[in-house]
Amino acid sequence: MQTSTNQSLRPLTTKINDKGNLEIGGCDTVELAEKYGTPLYVIDEFTLRSVCRDYNKAFSSYDKVKLLYASKALCSMATSSVISSEGFGFDAVSGGEIYTVYKSGVPMEKVLFNGNNKSADELLLALDLGVGRISVDNFFELALLDELAKSKNKKVDILLRITPGIECHTHEYIQTGHLDSKFGFDLTQTDEAIELILNTYSALNLKGLHAHIGSQIFETKVYDDEIEILVKEIARINDKFGLNLDEINIGGGLGVKYTENDMPPSVYEIAEIIINRLKSAVQKYNISEPILYLEPGRSIISTSGVTLYTFGSSKQVPHGKKYVAVDGGMADNARPSMYQAEYSAVIANKPEDECLQNVTIAGRFCESGDILIKSVDLPEITDGDILCVFNTGAYNYSMASNYNRVEKSAMVLVNNSQSDIIINRETLDDLVSHDIIPDRLRANV
Ligand SMILES: *Cc1c(COP(=O)(O)O)cnc(C)c1O
Repeated sequence: MQTSTNQSLRPLTTKINDKGNLEIGGCDTVELAEKYGTPLYVIDEFTLRSVCRDYNKAFSSYDKVKLLYASKALCSMATSSVISSEGFGFDAVSGGEIYTVYKSGVPMEKVLFNGNNKSADELLLALDLGVGRISVDNFFELALLDELAKSKNKKVDILLRITPGIECHTHEYIQTGHLDSKFGFDLTQTDEAIELILNTYSALNLKGLHAHIGSQIFETKVYDDEIEILVKEIARINDKFGLNLDEINIGGGLGVKYTENDMPPSVYEIAEIIINRLKSAVQKYNISEPILYLEPGRSIISTSGVTLYTFGSSKQVPHGKKYVAVDGGMADNARPSMYQAEYSAVIANKPEDECLQNVTIAGRFCESGDILIKSVDLPEITDGDILCVFNTGAYNYSMASNYNRVEKSAMVLVNNSQSDIIINRETLDDLVSHDIIPDRLRANV
């Protein structure tokens, strides 16, 4: 089976250059750290385009496929425009994501709006900008969206988000398809939802069903099961209500390789399974071939991203661990403290030196749980050395916070030896720019 980019631990352009430094996208990472400061998010455009092309190629044998990128993995104007230029639409989960892809020039009919508690303001923004589909999650939202669409004299194309009742073996916090999930309609509730849409909610135009099982998935069978459930349900609904629903959205979830122990399936492998099962289920349940949406996030953006940090202090616990601290941590990468995520790393200015010690890489934030990597073998470290953590493209910047009142990191896009800043580093003035001291307090100063 052909390999795909999500199976690589490092960006595809990663090399050791003449100076013995780590190079990505033709750029010396030590020079990037010097020029832009650290912590620094780096996105390799070649790797990003390459995984988009894997998806396009892998699904090319099914001509009714629509690939959406799940923006929540990383949403910025520059990355959106790269991904859009590879033919992808977008899955957005907030007004902020919708607005970001809108400002980056993405055609709004290629956007799907999704989420379990969209606000009225967000739904109105989606209606005003004309997003292509809204995936409705629950009864409350059906009523709200219908009312808002009527107030605008609009009809809106929707999918129903359902809970297929599939458990995948990933971290509990990133499972979404199991029966007691907070997301979507239970299969026992879909008929009631459809009756409401047909009889009461005349501004809503149901096009099909949407599900998403979970994230960082390595098993291929869950997609097989999911297709079967969705097609069977579509056939049952069409039959019972005399409808002709012809869209299924199977969500995202494909895993990536954070450490040498991770063996995610290739995009080509899951594409074959998905398409084969779809074609056989379509025959079995006697429906016409539906439009198939996929919305991968992590597997699109993760591998192209690395984060550069500068080493500072260290602490040898007597008879215990050795901690080495970097200038970032849980505010730029929440995943290790949130769900024990693991990462691999090298020292960018001596990537080939022998790894003689096992260390714990500590973040700089005031929490004992702020550990970036629990255990990693590295060469001797001196302060000022640059750490490169791999596979940080997804759910790092997008989950970043200002904890400890630290400025959010900058992001650069590298390609063909060129580096461009795509997100500016926050400044101290940015940090206080939303603060207001009420006059009545000023009077007392
Ligand atoms: C998060 C999410 C995705 C993307 O998941 P990945 O694991 O990043 O591929 C896709 N669809 C929905 C509905 C999601 O919530």
